[in-house]
Amino acid sequence: MDNQNKICSVDDCNRKVFTKLSKEKCVLHCEKSGIHRHHRSYHLLGSSFSTELENYIKKSKKETCNYFIGVHFPWIDSRDEADYGYAIFFKESRGKIDFEECHFYDILYKKYFVNSNIDFVEFYKCVFHIDYPIIGLDTEIYFKCCFERKVCNNEKNITPSLEFQQCTFQKEVIFDNALITGNIFIVRDNNVQSIFHDKLKFDNCVFDNSQKLFLDSDNNKDLSIKLKSCEFRKKFKIRSIEVEGKDYIEQQKNKAKLKSLKIIDCTAEDGTYLRFGFLDIEDFVLQNLRLPQNSELNIGDCRFKEFELSNFRNIGKFKLYKTNILENEEGQSFQINNTSIGNADFQGINLLSFKKVKLFIQ
Ligand SMILES: [Zn+2]
Repeated sequence: MDNQNKICSVDDCNRKVFTKLSKEKCVLHCEKSGIHRHHRSYHLLGSSFSTELENYIKKSKKETCNYFIGVHFPWIDSRDEADYGYAIFFKESRGKIDFEECHFYDILYKKYFVNSNIDFVEFYKCVFHIDYPIIGLDTEIYFKCCFERKVCNNEKNITPSLEFQQCTFQKEVIFDNALITGNIFIVRDNNVQSIFHDKLKFDNCVFDNSQKLFLDSDNNKDLSIKLKSCEFRKKFKIRSIEVEGKDYIEQQKNKAKLKSLKIIDCTAEDGTYLRFGFLDIEDFVLQNLRLPQNSELNIGDCRFKEFELSNFRNIGKFKLYKTNILENEEGQSFQINNTSIGNADFQGINLLSFKKVKLFIQ
């Protein structure tokens, strides 16, 4: 069939189909996966996309400023940035940009926005097909977005207004060497949390604000969480979300199951409250934590395959309660090694059910 004069199938789009890549969509709306610099349509795509996006912006400015719907932003080789890069599109913009149902095949560099006085971007139902470093603007909100690959930060200070709400992370999420001043994984009243499929790792991060990570039992079966060399300055909580209208027994069956939860070489400030609870965890490790006075570590209502607490110096308050084995697993073990437990409160720990128990308390 001749597609030359066919019109894009997206509602209200009157552009011609970009036949080099699509049978039914225009150059802005067509999918752009697998495009590299030697792809036969790469240069044509770059120039056509630039031209059409510029027209789109001119047109949309009359209605709503800075609003992109359904656009698939292509990957551009850095050598071609001057010709096809996106920076020019945002150059006259100010304030906020909204992206709705857009797809990204390339990173959004901070310079695109900073040079144009944009300090607020909001992404709604967008898909990120690449390893994605968050941009680093004053406010970044990701709502119902899907990250197909790694998500990370590329600068030390993560804005107070970075929020992920009801997003899906298909690969790992890694924050490295970051000062985190907001609650980044938000759950609103409707109790729908982001979904993690792989790893959530905070390496060398400072949590300057209280953090609540609530996990949804249906969607986080293979998640590993690691907190390495982090500093907790405020309340820090990881737990399963409660499903409304269910009683305690039902809630128990419905806890999120983590592959691992490891808290290693972290420090807590005086007065901090750390809570890891209401979870099923295959491999739990808490190593090298010194809990200062007026602080509390609370681990409870969990089932473990392996539980290990080592080099723990408690000058604050430590509460371990309702601890059981994860059933249908082999070789459950419970170990407390080289630990000065201080003011500890143990309740309802079913030690006999663990196959291996080792306690070395100073
Ligand atoms: Zn279109």
